[in-house]
Amino acid sequence: MEKKGKKRIVLVPVPAQGHITPMMQLGKALYLKGFSITVVEGQCNRVSSPSQHFPGFQFVTIPESLPESEFERLGAFDFILETNKTSEASFKNCLRQLLRQQGNDIACIIYDEFMYFCGTVATELKLPNVILCTQSATNQAARCIFSKLNLEKFLVDMEDPELQDKVVESLYPIRNKDLLPYGLGPFEPLLEFRREAINKRTASAVIFNTSRCLESSSMSWLQQELGIPVYPLGPLHITASAPGSSLAEDDMSCIEWLNKKKPRSVIYVSVGTVTQMESKEVLEIAWGLCNSNQPFLWVFRPGSILGFDGIDSLPEEVSKMVSERGYIVKRAPQIEVLGHPAVGGFWSHCGWNSTLESIVEGVPMICRPFTSEQKINATYLESVWRIGIQLEGEVLRGAVERAVNRLIVDDEGAEMRERALGLREKLKASVRCGGSSYSELEELVKHLKIE
Ligand code: UDP
Repeated sequence: MEKKGKKRIVLVPVPAQGHITPMMQLGKALYLKGFSITVVEGQCNRVSSPSQHFPGFQFVTIPESLPESEFERLGAFDFILETNKTSEASFKNCLRQLLRQQGNDIACIIYDEFMYFCGTVATELKLPNVILCTQSATNQAARCIFSKLNLEKFLVDMEDPELQDKVVESLYPIRNKDLLPYGLGPFEPLLEFRREAINKRTASAVIFNTSRCLESSSMSWLQQELGIPVYPLGPLHITASAPGSSLAEDDMSCIEWLNKKKPRSVIYVSVGTVTQMESKEVLEIAWGLCNSNQPFLWVFRPGSILGFDGIDSLPEEVSKMVSERGYIVKRAPQIEVLGHPAVGGFWSHCGWNSTLESIVEGVPMICRPFTSEQKINATYLESVWRIGIQLEGEVLRGAVERAVNRLIVDDEGAEMRERALGLREKLKASVRCGGSSYSELEELVKHLKIE
């Protein structure tokens, strides 16, 4: 039974790992501050065994008109647009029911920026609402700038190499060409999604999973631009860790394997939970890793190689070599792996969660981004924090081998590790009492109680 008088926060995550995890961490942080938490989920990609991992949370499922299979057919952004259109009515019913059953105890709806239908419903029911951005603040700032451009003129400008490389004023070192969305399917649904998300925004504040010490200029820029309070509370996984938000099971056997390796000798390879790679690139990575003579732990997520089932469907010679020299899993306990003393570097697609997790463990990275959002993170890792080596263009085995050796063997890698460890300390300080993320959380709690 909930204690009487507790205010309720309704959380609405996107059904994808990189979005669910920070939302559940935020829920945990607010639960510890005395709020009741209700998580509203769709039918697909639900948090497994929620009552075991999140005692005290209420989970509610809203019927979804779109089955998971539609994701494949429609592509990510058409799927999101459709979800936003079809979820409005059922979400409204769900909230009405919650209000009836539990009294008018909803302090706020906190929704992933991708689920903008929540803003419309909240306004209709006169409920306060706040947005959670699960991507970097710099990425959000880049999107704001892009949305105000004269697109036709910009696309013409982008044919000029000098203009492509021109740094965007107020967003150093992000260049004009980094503003162009890529790697996320067709352009039009993505732009429509961004327009809708802005037009339907009624939120009184925006929460970011970042820390001022990582992205201070982007945060200041956003504060001015958005004109509502912004709360950088991250990294949320250390503000309030929330084990159990995994949508799939981790293979813990890799920890045993890591236990037998020398300190800082292993390169951990993972491209997150969504990215798909061309088989040609996978083969070059495989050869490069093997030629580097460094041990590697590689997450081969089913479906992560276009046209292949998994490691066994690679040419026999390669799958044999990879299995002998490295350790392969379908899913790793990533935070534990990054924190293991044997891990010396992280080959990553630079998703925002992976980026934060690597920095918090003081692990430098090889950055191989696949989308514009990941590219912005990679640019920061390489040029602002200077803890990453970015691979651009076609990736060939020689470049892979060199990058691994630069990171694991050379002094350059040791210097990056030093800087990563310095950032790690700053991040840890930011979530401790008196630190910036700690204080921002206090401010957010005040904001939620006042509303
Ligand atoms: N993850 C994990 N094990 C894996 C692969 C991914 O635990 O084998 C987790 C990782 O720790 C991170 C999330 O999945 O929290 C991936 O989020 P990210 O933003 O890095 O990338 P996305 O999957 O959204 O592209």
